[in-house]
Amino acid sequence: MLPNHLQIRRSVRSKRLHLLVKPGLIELVVPTALPEAQAMAFLNKHRAWAENKLLEINARVAQTSSGFVSGSTIPWRGRELPLLIREEPGRRVRVAVDEAVRITLPEDLGESRDEVAKRALYAWVKPWLRGQVERLAERHTPRFGLYPREVRIKQMKTRWGSCGPHNDININWLLAFTPESVLEYVVVHELCHIRERNHSPAFWALLARHLPQYLEERNWLRSQGAALIRRFSL
Ligand SMILES: [Zn+2]
Repeated sequence: MLPNHLQIRRSVRSKRLHLLVKPGLIELVVPTALPEAQAMAFLNKHRAWAENKLLEINARVAQTSSGFVSGSTIPWRGRELPLLIREEPGRRVRVAVDEAVRITLPEDLGESRDEVAKRALYAWVKPWLRGQVERLAERHTPRFGLYPREVRIKQMKTRWGSCGPHNDININWLLAFTPESVLEYVVVHELCHIRERNHSPAFWALLARHLPQYLEERNWLRSQGAALIRRFSL
């Protein structure tokens, strides 16, 4: 199976096999008639180059996109979506997410504009993400009876999640901007702390019984987590 940041797209229009590298994503574009084996051989040959390119691009995006600038992108669920901010006199703050992340702001916010946009997004994400976390938790809790007392979404600076002594689970709101499998990994990680309080071999074994491929997601957080946190630190 391919990691999240690598996607294959069959294309009717494309005449040649090629790799597209954009923020957060490597896309292998394959002409429809081309055999799978040939595409995979091409990918293997150029994969190291593409991975390096991706790191470069991600680092550049992380540096330049400090702030909520309309027309830039936002990594919604791991996919870069257009960020569209509209300022309208007399309007209340509004957020909608479809094929773009749309934020409507009242005019004349001046210096506080980015902060208001970020707070509006957080207010929108919080209940939405709690629903996602509860849905993912329901998928995993029955197997080993790892039931959290409560799920909270929080702005956390250094952690992706935590599990308190009374089995309250806290999840970093920035996990709305990672691929869903990464969110799932963090949710299951915290659920496993209900039984295993530390990071002992028993803990990782329990985690692997839920998510055998969890290293993929753990590595995603290690390689891309810091850049994500920087993008949202105003
Ligand atoms: Zn842990």
